[in-house]
Amino acid sequence: MEFEGLVIQVIPQKERDLIARVLLRQGTLTSFYVYGGMGGGKNSKPRLYEPGNLVRVHVRGNQSGHTSQDSLKMVNEGSVLWQGKNIRHNPQAFALACLYLEITLKTALPHHDDDVVGEHQGLFNALSNGLFYLDQAVGVGEWSWTNHFSLFMGKFLHYLGILPDENECVFCGSELETENLIPLIVDQGGYSCLSCYQQSGIQVKMTPVRHHLTHAVRTRFQDWQQVQGVSRETCQQLIEFWGYHYQVKLPDLTSYRLLG
Ligand SMILES: [Zn+2]
Repeated sequence: MEFEGLVIQVIPQKERDLIARVLLRQGTLTSFYVYGGMGGGKNSKPRLYEPGNLVRVHVRGNQSGHTSQDSLKMVNEGSVLWQGKNIRHNPQAFALACLYLEITLKTALPHHDDDVVGEHQGLFNALSNGLFYLDQAVGVGEWSWTNHFSLFMGKFLHYLGILPDENECVFCGSELETENLIPLIVDQGGYSCLSCYQQSGIQVKMTPVRHHLTHAVRTRFQDWQQVQGVSRETCQQLIEFWGYHYQVKLPDLTSYRLLG
């Protein structure tokens, strides 16, 4: 059997083996065991299984019998279909790519061979485009991690179906003010009108998060240069919003700290 997907995480095993956790094109997560995958040794094979690489793997035999189970698959051979040229040479881009991977790892569902095709494909598209255009931007030389992250999260939240309603107050359902600064109430899953916000006693940092998120959802990945002026605070709110749905707290994301 053949699989294609993005390497999300590499876990070394024994001396030179590894387990690669891969987000398949279908948008679900599976694990491959690769003998000698860490490279080195007599033949000094190059490492195919670097996080962020798009790989194609052939799996030994036809491991049927438990087709609906996500068992560890033994890799026969593999090849790299895509690898970023620039990300790994730029510490901040590398940290951002790791954040994309970490968020995906905490979001994606395990793969089952009888999954409905296409159901989770949007997740794969968001991640692969996020990595591809980040690599392109670093190559061009003018980029900011916050702008890229907001674009990625716009696509990611959209595919997950958890985007906050940009028009209605999450408390009273009335139409939201057109002002730029509208409070995002993470644990309610939406924006609040100013009157409900004042009554609620909740305190959140007011940022133009609605403006940026709405823009990100409508902007194609290849038009990343049109996304401008996103602050770190806005990015933090987007993470907290996603994290509330997936029970992840900001300090749990190790790669976020690396962004400095
Ligand atoms: Zn309201």
